[in-house]
Amino acid sequence: MKVNKDIKKLDGANMDIDLSSSQDKISWKQDKCPWNEAEDTNKHKCAVKNISICSYFCGVEYLDNVLCCYPHENPFKGKE
Ligand code: SF4
Repeated sequence: MKVNKDIKKLDGANMDIDLSSSQDKISWKQDKCPWNEAEDTNKHKCAVKNISICSYFCGVEYLDNVLCCYPHENPFKGKE
């Protein structure tokens, strides 16, 4: 599917995305996963390559923003 004449939207990416890095291990500001914060853990990941995608994951937006619906039901569920 084309988004505009220069950018294509490609299905099926095999992604590795999380918001669980220790702030002292990265050089950019990273928001925390609200599910991890609620459970005081670091185990939840948005997308784990070859394994899973979080049920609250609603996609990504340029450049590196995660769209997250936690704690609400994913509005895209059943539409993929
Ligand atoms: S999609 Fe949301 S709830 Fe799921 S791991 Fe990512 S930030 Fe956490």
